[in-house]
Amino acid sequence: MIGFDGLGDRPSAVLGGKTPLEDAKKPFIDWLASLGAQGVIDPVSPGVIPGSDTAHLAIFGLDPFKVYPGRGPFEAIGAGAELNPGDIAFRGNFATVDEKFVVIDRRAGRSEYGLDKLVDSLNKGVGEIEGYKVEFYRAAEHRLAVVLRGVGLSDRIGDTDPGVEGERVRVSAPLDNDPSSKRTADLVNKLTEEISRVLREHGVNKERVEMGLRPANIVLLRGAGKMPRLRKIYELERIHIERAGAVSATALIKGVTKLLGFHVVHPPGATGGLNTDVHAKVRAAVEMLDRGYDLVYLHFKGTDTASHDRKPREKRSFIEKCDSALSEVLRDFMDRAVIAITGDHTTSSTIGQHTSDPVPLLVYSEGMFQDMLGRFSERTARLGAIGRIRGSDLIYLLTDLAERQEKFGA
Ligand code: ZN
Ligand code: ZN
Repeated sequence: MIGFDGLGDRPSAVLGGKTPLEDAKKPFIDWLASLGAQGVIDPVSPGVIPGSDTAHLAIFGLDPFKVYPGRGPFEAIGAGAELNPGDIAFRGNFATVDEKFVVIDRRAGRSEYGLDKLVDSLNKGVGEIEGYKVEFYRAAEHRLAVVLRGVGLSDRIGDTDPGVEGERVRVSAPLDNDPSSKRTADLVNKLTEEISRVLREHGVNKERVEMGLRPANIVLLRGAGKMPRLRKIYELERIHIERAGAVSATALIKGVTKLLGFHVVHPPGATGGLNTDVHAKVRAAVEMLDRGYDLVYLHFKGTDTASHDRKPREKRSFIEKCDSALSEVLRDFMDRAVIAITGDHTTSSTIGQHTSDPVPLLVYSEGMFQDMLGRFSERTARLGAIGRIRGSDLIYLLTDLAERQEKFGA
């Protein structure tokens, strides 16, 4: 299964009204399309704009509406944390407060100067509170992820981020009567004091002030979420997948697939960007197929990156590069593997954002019903024999073709 992140797109003016996928010269994928069938996927649900996390949970058979704990835990995973069930994760901002804890700037002037050092000092200086482990992970710009680990923590607690400037840092309060919520809120309030202690007199902040920048002297926390235990890919009902592998260089996707029980490989040279070594990734996927893995997921991030940067031409050439790498090896597997090419969501390279547009899907399996559309694109996929399915249907569709599913009923 090959997942191009943000594969779907809309017609692009700079490509003469075609989409990057439609305009790409991709002889192998189009040949595969002449032998397979197409359709479209609503990753989460029609009209719902998916994140990469919710979309990936869905295409591996889970219902994100039921299992998704909020952005906190998955942003922490995206920042490099490895979360266990029961861990609490927050989204955080470096911010500027005055001596009375009134928020002057929620983003510490958006300057990134010295933030890596501050994260380092926080991990050294506030690594533990009352026996609970605390971890800080740098995310994009002024953002970070904060993880609390230990037994009996709750995510039913209020934010310390007031959400506006000119107000004091909030005291986190329990949102229900459970003792674990009170305990966690108390812990978070102590954590805020400790963070302030480490950051207030920090050399980096003295430098920032001397440079005319705002000091990053507090971390505001919001969106507490508790990592749930997620059903592993090999625990899905009626499906026989014993060993699953994933190839990705993107922290979020590596983390999600790992949580779902995949063995994750990040080959050298794979960057999670447009400059990634696509051959190394394809080789890593083929090795897992050769070693008898039942399901191999090969993830390419470049399509999403180019879309967010509003670069339809780069998206097109990234697809072309991947097509040629895939054509060198996938032909050998056509008599013994079900091949699916799709994405986790649509990312419009015109507006630079995810949209709810359904995602094109191409499936090849020897002996399957062919729709003979011949070229793979958003346009043809809408006419394909598979029709329109939900993300969580995909793993069932593929395991049926692979004869790895038991019937539902007698
Ligand atoms: Zn994505
Ligand atoms: Zn994206």
